[in-house]
Amino acid sequence: MSGDFDGLTAVVTGGASGIGLATALAFAERGASVAVLDLDPSSVREPLLGVVADVRDRASVSRAVEEVVARFGGIDILVNNAGVSAIGTVEEQGDDDWARVLDINVTGIARATSAALPHLRASDHAAIVNLCSIAALNGLPRRALYSATKGAVMSLTYAMATDHVGEGIRVNAVSPGTVATPFVDRFLTQFDDPARERAALDARQATGRMVTPEEVAGAILYLAHPGSGSTTGAVLEVDGGMTHARVRTA
Ligand code: NAD
Repeated sequence: MSGDFDGLTAVVTGGASGIGLATALAFAERGASVAVLDLDPSSVREPLLGVVADVRDRASVSRAVEEVVARFGGIDILVNNAGVSAIGTVEEQGDDDWARVLDINVTGIARATSAALPHLRASDHAAIVNLCSIAALNGLPRRALYSATKGAVMSLTYAMATDHVGEGIRVNAVSPGTVATPFVDRFLTQFDDPARERAALDARQATGRMVTPEEVAGAILYLAHPGSGSTTGAVLEVDGGMTHARVRTA
């Protein structure tokens, strides 16, 4: 395969499913060497390289990054995609929930980025893309903990962009609306009528349907593209208009 990412290596955390998998496949289709770091990469097929990694564990992430470098010779792009959902108000989630979800969704980004930075510094086209969410800016019902983690990802993106711009490393984020992935399928299982709830999720977006993983992947590739050299510290909404073009009824 050949394309505009020829000669570059992309690492996608949580890339065995959903948005991460669509992103990994899109990078590979456009010529990149791609490694997927995931708790369970057993379903990952060539040309993707699946590597076991747990973003909760610094040693595990470091080992995985070194395995990627041994295989591909370096890292140019890091997509910090691994993340988990959390449903509930502050009363409904305890300290263990807070520690677990913050550890994966926020500290996991710090761990993966720290492991990749020495290799990104050696790249002429270094880029990091973090997975934020429209939950960072929109008050969604019963998403207190999840929203807090994604608000942190947004702030972290701005801070990382500042810290690393002088090293030639761009840092951006995508902020998807509700994306039709296994993440949403699991959420819907809690309802008596999942089909009705799915329709409500479609209707919640101004476009009238959920975002596709491929649409988010397209935005991630734009931000990571060598031709996007002036884009850093940006948070790009891919949300069916949910944030700024919300359909309002009288
Ligand atoms: P998904 O559940 O389909 O995939 C998540 C992947 O992350 C899985 O392969 C899982 O094994 C992996 N993972 C989970 N914990 C991990 C860990 N500790 N270490 C390594 N890998 C781990 O989810 P998705 O819907 O594709 O979501 C991906 C990202 O996009 C998440 O950060 C999520 O918060 C964000 N997001 C999703 C939506 C949505 O509606 N689906 C909306 C906005 C943002």
